[in-house]
Amino acid sequence: QEEAARAERFAPAITRDQHRVEVAANIGNVRDAQKAAEAGAEGVGLLRTEFLYLERNSAPSEEEQFAVYRDIIQTQKGQNVIIRTLDIGGDKEVSYLNLPKEDNPFLGVRGVRLCFEYPDLFIPQLRAIYRAATYGPVSIMFPMIATLEDWQKAAAIAEQVRQELNGPTIPIGIMVEVPSAVLLATHLAREIAFFSIGTNDLTQYVMAMDRGHPQLAKQADSLHPAILQMIWQTVQAAEQEGKWVGVCGGLASEVLGASILTGLGVKELSVSIPSVATIKAHIRSSSLQDMQELAKRALQCRTSAEVRGL
Ligand code: PEP
Ligand code: MG
Repeated sequence: QEEAARAERFAPAITRDQHRVEVAANIGNVRDAQKAAEAGAEGVGLLRTEFLYLERNSAPSEEEQFAVYRDIIQTQKGQNVIIRTLDIGGDKEVSYLNLPKEDNPFLGVRGVRLCFEYPDLFIPQLRAIYRAATYGPVSIMFPMIATLEDWQKAAAIAEQVRQELNGPTIPIGIMVEVPSAVLLATHLAREIAFFSIGTNDLTQYVMAMDRGHPQLAKQADSLHPAILQMIWQTVQAAEQEGKWVGVCGGLASEVLGASILTGLGVKELSVSIPSVATIKAHIRSSSLQDMQELAKRALQCRTSAEVRGL
């Protein structure tokens, strides 16, 4: 089965009833980008740029980032690359920034919050992205958006950078991974180009369970009905504004997760590189109608065990 999936990895993921799902990859560097293309990924749904900043003694320069983004874009041969701006803080440590120690790093100055505090990090990154954007289709995505103000502030900074460079206008979307963003989704949907749901953090923040906690790993299940309700709410808000929703959290890489997400109306699944062929084959063997039925039943479940039992 895995062999067959691999053989067909470059074919699009179209269900038996002719519904197309984009299957993109989550990557962290140029090598991953090449592997993703070879694995059959339809572009990059999440470039975790923080990997450029980790395990070194100083931040990567604008020039260095530009070269990396350009190389990644070129590996994708015309398919879209979603570049997520720096998401550090939380559990990811960067020694040279000398960040103050926080009691609750996951609830602290993380993601865009950190970028607002450190324009010397944020601006060069945005400049590098806009410069690389002349090499192929690129979108920008902001992590950890919790409020409308977060979005508007980040978008305004990006637009200022774009104007200074006379860069191309590119789609700008946000990660939906903080519960308040779900509750604000109707307002955000009017202004963003797309939502990409980060089910890893969304699960952590909705259930108040540390995503890396060994004792809570079993309970912190992204297929919990509470999370599925949040995803459904996000999709409905986006649809009302004609915007698309992707999922780049781990749930998209699971076969059952991919089915339920597609049934809920998610259009793009950004998955781990080893899962690309499997998820594409799985979508091809399914029908949208069945997945919609499955999603409907999942939303009625009371526990994640019930969802997994479907
Ligand atoms: C997520 O939170 O689901 C996500 C995709 O982002 P990260 O795992 O990098 O926090
Ligand atoms: Mg996240």
